[in-house]
Amino acid sequence: MTAAVTFRSVSRHFGAVKAVDSVDLEIAEGEFFAMLGPSGSGKTTCLRLIAGFEQPDGGEIAILGTSANGIPPWKRNVNTVFQDYALFPHMTILDNVAYGLMVRGIDKATRHKAAEEALDLVKLGGYGARRTGQLSGGQRQRVALARALVNKPSVLLLDEPLGALDLKLREAMQEELKGLQKRLGITFVLVTHDQAEALSMADRVAVFNEGRIVQSGAPEDIYNRPKTRFVADFVGSSNILSPSLSENLSGVRRWTSLRPEALTLEPGNGRLSLTGMVEASSFMGAVRRIALKVGDSTIHANLPAGAAIPDDGQTLTLHFAPDALNPLEDAA
Ligand code: ATP
Repeated sequence: MTAAVTFRSVSRHFGAVKAVDSVDLEIAEGEFFAMLGPSGSGKTTCLRLIAGFEQPDGGEIAILGTSANGIPPWKRNVNTVFQDYALFPHMTILDNVAYGLMVRGIDKATRHKAAEEALDLVKLGGYGARRTGQLSGGQRQRVALARALVNKPSVLLLDEPLGALDLKLREAMQEELKGLQKRLGITFVLVTHDQAEALSMADRVAVFNEGRIVQSGAPEDIYNRPKTRFVADFVGSSNILSPSLSENLSGVRRWTSLRPEALTLEPGNGRLSLTGMVEASSFMGAVRRIALKVGDSTIHANLPAGAAIPDDGQTLTLHFAPDALNPLEDAA
């Protein structure tokens, strides 16, 4: 099968800054792919390289099996939804959505019909006559999405599309976007620094750091088996155990990571344990979060909200399955 997007050793430098540093990647057709990483890690530049707003200094980019090097944005079957939506305030919603078709010379009746269908897709049927100022932030976001979808792109690029929305709306839109992507079967490439967003929506996640992809895989792999301290720390909250603490627990001297939810009060068969002093215990609603001082380290555990926990300063032993201790590749 042809890949939707392929990067072979793609680089883009700005002066001394290696924004994208020899990146290889392959995004399958129909896949929901997320680029996740901290600010400045090169995600947006990768997206702009796919869109054609940037040209690589080195390497090869292909879209649907055809080399995209030197092909201008409007000749790529790719559309972008920007974080700030970039809507035209003086136009109606319908004309905003139909804009891309107008530029391509599609007649008014045809483009309005297509725009109405796109508005239906994002659940804004009947809003066409309004102007952008009469819409909420969430609705504007949907208009921006409809405006990209109306062009029936093979690849839809989403640059922090939900960043401006409040948490509740963002979570609702995450489910909706994922549902829409599955129904339409269009390849989605999402840029986000929000790990929960990437994990919940994407089929596959690439974690970026300093212009490079440091790990890519299914959300479950990235979360359960981070390869480095950076990924363990950036994706979800993880305890990072020093080589000496790991050695005390498991006999193997190396960096490891351990998720707070892997720790329990129950010993169980074959489980490992660690004992420390309770430093803090906070009720978080769904869970009780414990900070346990173990040697020089502080280990966090998410226990059931109703768990009976000794007072601060008292000793507590927690238990975990041996395979919850995840080996990291960082040098010990
Ligand atoms: P954010 O989440 O903040 O958008 P990002 O991971 O998308 O970050 P990029 O926007 O790709 O990161 O930027 C990567 C690096 O390249 C940063 O150091 C940035 O300052 C630099 N950079 C990006 N575009 C340009 C440009 N046009 N000129 C100079 N430097 C740039």
